[in-house]
Amino acid sequence: MEGSLSGLLMLQEVDLLLDRERAELAGIPGELSIVEAELAAARNDFAGVESRLADLASAQKKCESEKTEARQKLAEYRTKLLSLRTNAEYKAMLEQIAYVEKRIDDIDSRTLELMYEEDGTRGSIEDARKKLDRYSERASKKKELLAEREKSLREEISRLEGDRTARAAEVSVRLLRKYEQLRMSGRSSAVVGLVRGACGGCHTNVPPQNAVEIGQGVSYSCPICGRYVVDLDGNRGPAEGV
Ligand SMILES: [Zn+2]
Repeated sequence: MEGSLSGLLMLQEVDLLLDRERAELAGIPGELSIVEAELAAARNDFAGVESRLADLASAQKKCESEKTEARQKLAEYRTKLLSLRTNAEYKAMLEQIAYVEKRIDDIDSRTLELMYEEDGTRGSIEDARKKLDRYSERASKKKELLAEREKSLREEISRLEGDRTARAAEVSVRLLRKYEQLRMSGRSSAVVGLVRGACGGCHTNVPPQNAVEIGQGVSYSCPICGRYVVDLDGNRGPAEGV
C-alpha cells in the first residue's frame, strides 16, 4: 500500500474513534435532561398528593367549624321553642330545627367522605414519596456516572486529537485534502477496503485490472463514491457508515 495511503488509513481510524467519542459527549446533556425531567415529574407527583392532603385537612376543619356553629344554633332554637306561645310560631321553629338537623347530617356524611379520601391519599403519598426517593437516588447516581463519563471522554478526545495531528502530518497534502472533502460530504470512512472485488463503501465493482493494482498498493479512488479503495488484510474494509 502506498505509504501515505496507509497513513491515511491510520488517520481514519483515529477520526472514527473521535467521531464516536464526540457524538457520545454531545449526547450527555440530553441524557442529563432526561434524568432531570424524570426527577421533576416525580417531585411534581409528590407535591400534587401533598397539596391534596392539605386541601382535605382544611376541608375537614371547615366541616368541624360548620358543625359547631350548627349545633349552637340547634341548642338556641330548642331553648326558644320552650318560650313560644302560638302554634304557628312553634311549627315554624320546628321546621327550622329540622332544617339544622338535616344540615348536621350532611356535614357528618361529608366529613366521612373526606376522612375516607384522606386515608386513600395517605396511601398514595407513601407511594409518591417512595417513588421520589427512588428517582432521586437514581438521578444522583446517573449524574455521577455521566460526569465521570464526560471527564474520561474529554481526556480521551484530547489524547486522540494529539494523535490525529501527528498522523495527519504523515499524510500527503493531496490525500489529506481529498480525505477531508470526503469526510465533509458526510462519509465517515474515506478509505475503505476492497471487498470481493468491489468498493467497500458503495459496493460498486472495481475493474479487475484496478483490483490487481490495488493489491499492489496503487492508490485507487472509486469513481462512484470517491472513496479510496485499498487492499486491507484479508480484503476486509473497515465498518462503514455512509
Ligand atoms: Zn465507492
